[in-house]
Amino acid sequence: MAKVKDILTSKKATRIVLWLAGALAVVALVVCITFGFSKRFSGDSSDDNRVVVDVVAGDTLSKILSNYGLTHNDINSIAATLRTKAGIGGLRANRDKIEFLRDGETGPVSKIVIIPSPWRRIELTCNEAGIWDCNSVDIQRDTRLVYRQGEILDGDSFYLAGNRAGIPAGILADVYDLLAFEMDFERDVRAGQKFSVVYEENYSEGKKVDNGSVVVVSFDALRGNVKMYRYKKSDNTIGYYDPNGNGAIKSLKRTPINNARVTSSFSTRRKHPVLGFTRAHKGVDFRAPTGTPIPSAGAGRVVARGYNRGHGNFIKIRHNGTFETLYAHLSKFVKNVKVGTVVKQGQIIGYAGATGLATGPHLHYEVIKDGKHVNPMTVKLPAINNLDATNKKSFLEYRETLDKAIEGLIKNPKAYIQM
Ligand SMILES: [Zn+2]
Repeated sequence: MAKVKDILTSKKATRIVLWLAGALAVVALVVCITFGFSKRFSGDSSDDNRVVVDVVAGDTLSKILSNYGLTHNDINSIAATLRTKAGIGGLRANRDKIEFLRDGETGPVSKIVIIPSPWRRIELTCNEAGIWDCNSVDIQRDTRLVYRQGEILDGDSFYLAGNRAGIPAGILADVYDLLAFEMDFERDVRAGQKFSVVYEENYSEGKKVDNGSVVVVSFDALRGNVKMYRYKKSDNTIGYYDPNGNGAIKSLKRTPINNARVTSSFSTRRKHPVLGFTRAHKGVDFRAPTGTPIPSAGAGRVVARGYNRGHGNFIKIRHNGTFETLYAHLSKFVKNVKVGTVVKQGQIIGYAGATGLATGPHLHYEVIKDGKHVNPMTVKLPAINNLDATNKKSFLEYRETLDKAIEGLIKNPKAYIQM
C-alpha cells in the first residue's frame, strides 16, 4: 500500500470525489469572489502595481533594473545577493522573467521577483539600510490528470484521430511508443475503434506550464483491448503495466519506427520485388523516406555493421541470449554506433535508405530468435520490469482507485483528477 499512497492516496481519492461533486459550487464561489473584488478595488487593482518583464536577447540585469528606476547601489546589492545566495550570475534571454512590484501606482519598486522557471521564484526585498536580500521559493507543481477519448473514423490514422480528440502531439508520440509494444498500427487499426488517454498536465500557480506523462492508455484494437497503466514501484522505478500487472514494456518493439506503413509482411514465401523469384521474406518492411532515423528496437550490443548485396547497409543488434534484430537498406549509420557499442532501446542507430536490393527507401526489419527468423508482429516478446508479488498487490489497488476516479472523468470530461 506504501506506493499507492505516494501516487494517489485514499485521502486524495476523496479530494477527487469532492472536486467532482463540488465543481459547480467552486465555480460559483470563484465567480463570487472575483466579482466582489473587482467592485471593491476597481482602478486600484494590484495588477497596476505589478509589471512582468520578459528577458530578451541583449538584456542585462543592470539594464533592466535601471529601466525600472533602481539606483547603481541597488543594482550592485541585488547582483551580489543573487550571486551569493541564489547562484544566479546573469539573466537568460527568452527564459527568465522579472517581476516588479511597487507600493502604489507611482511608488518605488518594493519587491523584485526573478522567475527562472515556472517552478522557482527568487524574491528580492530591500531593508531600511538599502541592502537587498533574496529568498528562493520553490513552487509546488500542481499536477492534474485529464482524460481524452476518441474514435478512428473511415480513412483516419490514429494520429489524426488523436489530434481530433485533443491529445497534444507530444503525448500522442508517447502513446505511439507505448502501443507499439502491443499493436501493429497497420493491421490493428480500423474505423470505429475507440481509444482513450489519461495524461498529466502541470500547473504553476493556476497556469498550465506543460504536459507530463501518459498515465493510462486504452485502445480497442482488432486483437482486443490494449490497456497500459503507468506505475511507480516501491524502488521508485517507473514502468507501464497491463491491467493484471504484467509488464507492458517489452524487450523489443514490434515496429521500431512509429506510424510507419508496413509495405511487406513476414512470410515464408513471397515473390521478391527485385530478384523476381519466390523466396522467404525474413522480415517486415516499413515505408520510411531516406534519412528517417532508425531506433534500436531494444537495448543490446551491436554485433554486426556492414554491407552486403541483399541488405545493403545493415546493422545487427544482440539483445540477450535469445533475441537479435537486424535493420537493412540503411542510407547511413550513426557514427559512434559500431560493432561492440551498447545501445539503449530507442537509441538512433542509422538512417533509412534504399541500399542493397531495394526498389525504394524503406526499413527492412528482422527479428531473430535463437538463430531463427521469426515474425516481429506475432512473436511473443518477453516483458522487462515485471512486478514482484508485493508490488503487484500495490499496483492492483492503485489501478482500482485510479479506474474509479477515471469513471468520474468519463462522466464529466471537463473535470480533472487533482494529484
Ligand atoms: Zn524486406
